[in-house]
Amino acid sequence: MKIAIAGGTGFIGSRLISHLQNDGHEVFVISRRPSSGSAVPTITWKQFQDDSTDVIEVDAIVNLAGESINQRWTEQAKRRIIDSRLQAAKQIANWVQRMKAKPKVVVNASGMSIYGTSETEIFDEWSPHRDTDFLSHVVSLWEQAADQIQETRLVKIRVGIVLDRKEGAFPKMALPYKLGIGGKVGSGRQWMSWIHIEDMVRLIQFCIEREEVSGPVNATAPSPVTNAQFGQVLARTLRRPNLFPVPSFIFKLLFGELSVLLLEGQKVLPRTLLEHGFEFRFTTIEEALADIAGPQNKS
Ligand code: NDP
Repeated sequence: MKIAIAGGTGFIGSRLISHLQNDGHEVFVISRRPSSGSAVPTITWKQFQDDSTDVIEVDAIVNLAGESINQRWTEQAKRRIIDSRLQAAKQIANWVQRMKAKPKVVVNASGMSIYGTSETEIFDEWSPHRDTDFLSHVVSLWEQAADQIQETRLVKIRVGIVLDRKEGAFPKMALPYKLGIGGKVGSGRQWMSWIHIEDMVRLIQFCIEREEVSGPVNATAPSPVTNAQFGQVLARTLRRPNLFPVPSFIFKLLFGELSVLLLEGQKVLPRTLLEHGFEFRFTTIEEALADIAGPQNKS
C-alpha cells in the first residue's frame, strides 16, 4: 500500500514508518519542513495545499500532526495546540475531497481525554464525550474537525499514554525511580490508560487494513493501572525504591494547568479493538515495563 503520514517525523510517526516499511509498504511524510536528508520522501503542508496534490494517489492517510501538549499551557500555547490539530484535519479533509481516486481509509489521531477524567468510571468507545477541561475540549474539537473527512472510511484512534524506553512520557516518569526517589504522584488513585509503542503501531496498521473498523477506536492496552500500581511495578522492574510520594500541590506549582496530565486520568478499555480480534503483544503493565525497562534494556 502507499500510505501518507502527516506528523510522521514525531515519536509515534517515525516508529510507524519503520514498522510499515519493514512490512513492505510505501510511505511518505507530510511535514512543516522539507525533508533534510531523510530517507523517507516528504512533502510540506505548503506543497500539499497546491492543487497538484489531487493527482497523488494513496491507499491510506494517517494524521498524527499536532503541536506538543508537553509545554506550559499559556494562552498562545493553547491556541497552537488547538489550531495545529484543526488545520491538519481540515487540510486532509480538503485533500480527500479534491482527490480523484479516494484513499481507502484515513486514520486520524485523537485522545482518550475526550471522556474527561474520573477515578471510578470505566470508559469505552460507547461512553459519552465530556467537555470538562482544556484537553477534553481540544479532543472534542479535533474529532469534530476529523469528521469533515468524508467519502472514505474514517478511524479516530483515541491514543493512550504511549510507553517507550526512549521517547514520550515514560523516560520522564522513570527518572525519579532510576534516581531512587520515585513514588506515587498525588493520591496515586488516578488511572493511567497506557499502550506499548509496539502495539500502538501494530494497531494503526490493523485499522488501515481491516475494512470493518471505523469510527472511534481506543488505543489503550486492556489493563489500565492506577498511578500507584504503575509506580509499584516500575520500582520492582528497575529494582529501585518506591518510597517518595510527591504531593499534588508541587506539580500544580511546577506545571500549572498542565499538571492535570499527571494528577488526573481515566480508565479506558479498547473494546472495539478486542471485538475485532486485535491481539495485543503487551496486555499487562508488568509485560510492558519488563520489555522497556527490564534489566536487558539498561541504558
Ligand atoms: P509528536 O509531538 O512526537 O509529533 C507530532 C508531529 O506533529 C511532529 O512530528 C510535527 O511534525 C507535527 N507538529 C508539531 N507541532 C506542529 C504544529 N504546530 N503544526 C503542525 N504540525 C505540528 O507526537 P506523538 O508522535 O507523540 O503523537 C502523535 C499524535 O498523537 C499527537 O497529535 C498527539 O497529541 C497524539 N497523542 C499522543 C500521545 C502519546 O503518548 N505520545 C498520547 C495521546 C495523544 P513536523 O515537524 O514534521 O511538521
